[in-house]
Amino acid sequence: MPDPILSFRGVSKAYGTTRAIDTLDLDIEAGSFVALVGASGSGKSTLLKTVNRLVEPLTGEVLFEGENVAGLPQPALRRRIGYVFQSIGLFPHMSVAENIAIGPRLGGERLPASRIAELLAWVELEESMADRMPDELSGGQRQRVGVARALAAEPHLLLMDEPFGALDPVTRDALGERVRKLHDELGLTTVMVTHDMAEALLLADRVLVMDAGQIVADEVPAALLAGKGGEIAQALVAVPRHQAERLAELSQ
Ligand code: ADP
Ligand code: MG
Repeated sequence: MPDPILSFRGVSKAYGTTRAIDTLDLDIEAGSFVALVGASGSGKSTLLKTVNRLVEPLTGEVLFEGENVAGLPQPALRRRIGYVFQSIGLFPHMSVAENIAIGPRLGGERLPASRIAELLAWVELEESMADRMPDELSGGQRQRVGVARALAAEPHLLLMDEPFGALDPVTRDALGERVRKLHDELGLTTVMVTHDMAEALLLADRVLVMDAGQIVADEVPAALLAGKGGEIAQALVAVPRHQAERLAELSQ
């Protein structure tokens, strides 16, 4: 790999006797869109959190743009890495504009209204949304604001933890495609955690499957669809494949 933007070297993390991450090695190439798929409890969220130091590894190191993140202050890391949570986590007492601008503001920078409008446009929200409060938005709109907020500080890396899990299927599909377009247009590197293999296959360049704290498959979508990646990966691929086959039967 020519230029990994993110590297995990022998990273492990335990909670009591639970091994959440088990001596994991992984390189992520700059510009790639990587999906991290696996059952609940397989360690996906813990792995993402080691990147921006919400979790400190027990062993090993995480390198971001060639630097060990353990030596980087959290505020600086948070500005360089966009993070979208499943639970969205907008501040309820702040307007949409204030929520979007919070990262840069903590770094002493004020975002002009024109920049807020640009960020809203990126996630296909009207400029007038800037003055709304979070409880005046639909779930899909809130999650769009979450994406705009993650991009506000012009990060190179976008981490998303089950970002669309709580959305209805139509909104989920539209927002997934929008994020993939933004990834391409802005030249981002994106790591998206999802438990939905169909979403991973449709959006990502590379699909990693996690099980019991380890990466058990690392394939491009076409290879997974061609049967590669081993038993655990193929059990996940079987779900959307079976659905597609049943729909094809029904439409005959
Ligand atoms: P995933 O995101 O794939 O569902 P997690 O990374 O959240 O998995 O969790 C991996 C394992 O670590 C699970 O067994 C989970 O119960 C455990 N775990 C995660 N966070 C904590 C925590 N803060 N305290 C104790 N156990 C945790
Ligand atoms: Mg999780």
